[in-house]
Amino acid sequence: MNVQKVLLARPRGFCAGVEMAIKSLIWMVRVFDPPVYCYHEIVHNKIIVDRFKSLGVVFVSDISEVPPGSPVMLSAHGSAPKLVERAHEVSGISINAVCPLVTKVHHEVKVRSRNGYSIIYVGHKEHDEAIGTVAIAPESVTVIESEEDLKSIPDDLEKVALINQTTLSLDDWAGIRESALKKFPSVWMANRSDLCFATTNRQLAIREISRLANTVIVIGSSNSSNTVALEKTARRYGAEKVFRINSPDELPDDIEGVVGITAGASAPEDLVQSVVARLSPSDGTEEINVTDEDEYFPPPPELRDLLRSVSDALSLALLAPGASNSPLDSDRIRSASESLDVLIRDRIAGSMQ
Ligand code: SF4
Repeated sequence: MNVQKVLLARPRGFCAGVEMAIKSLIWMVRVFDPPVYCYHEIVHNKIIVDRFKSLGVVFVSDISEVPPGSPVMLSAHGSAPKLVERAHEVSGISINAVCPLVTKVHHEVKVRSRNGYSIIYVGHKEHDEAIGTVAIAPESVTVIESEEDLKSIPDDLEKVALINQTTLSLDDWAGIRESALKKFPSVWMANRSDLCFATTNRQLAIREISRLANTVIVIGSSNSSNTVALEKTARRYGAEKVFRINSPDELPDDIEGVVGITAGASAPEDLVQSVVARLSPSDGTEEINVTDEDEYFPPPPELRDLLRSVSDALSLALLAPGASNSPLDSDRIRSASESLDVLIRDRIAGSMQ
């Protein structure tokens, strides 16, 4: 390899929703004896999922796989209402780590469906987020993935709403939005679309970098919608070569010149740093910052209640009520990556005692 410089996109990697979901599962692992169950991958990243598996988390694709009474977490992508109910019945301790921005889209679907709209949902049919969202009002929703699919929607619908998955490519969405407005001039849409801030910011940063770098590396999994959107964006905005990789071992050996790097919203920063180390740029790194993100999503309300109860019980057991701060105080301060590293280190230290 003969890499001159690395341009790092900012923002990149974990978004506020992923931070919240990972930290929530960490709390579950800390509070309960293993196994803790998780319905679907907590976030779409194999390395994060493997780290949780090493901590005794069992990932299931069907709630019937959760033994009655066992703690279960539902993933950040959002789940169908019936599934949320079923998880609660089976487990008694179920925590829904859905991102609040996905919940907002669920709410839009519920309200528009109740008000008699035909809903066109733009998303990836097989993606967990799309499946969970459609399940809010399946009788009212038709899923489309492209402008081409829009042609199959009857022209004579009266009340139409256009709602989208939070993690689409900005350019794909813009094309579909424009075609939908031509076909249904009075279509209802959320004010600024349902694309989330994290998706938007990461794509704006990689647009900048793709104009400056010969090669762009996107770190993240192939089943992560926002990662795939980053890959598409890099190609569209001029990068000659684009590689999506899960880890540094997948880097090709012949990378040269100026290299741009970004990471999907569920890819951890340590992977970015390992990729930089492997590229070993002769002129070092430069961050291309399009905006600062400081969003924080607190843990789901049911988890906050649970943590307060555990904290109160521990204070009583130690006969020092009020002596310790709420565990929630640390949630905001420590990042998800740091919390996961600390948990893994604690477990290794515990197993050696
Ligand atoms: S990518 Fe957006 S919608 Fe998805 S978890 Fe992150 S903030 Fe939430």
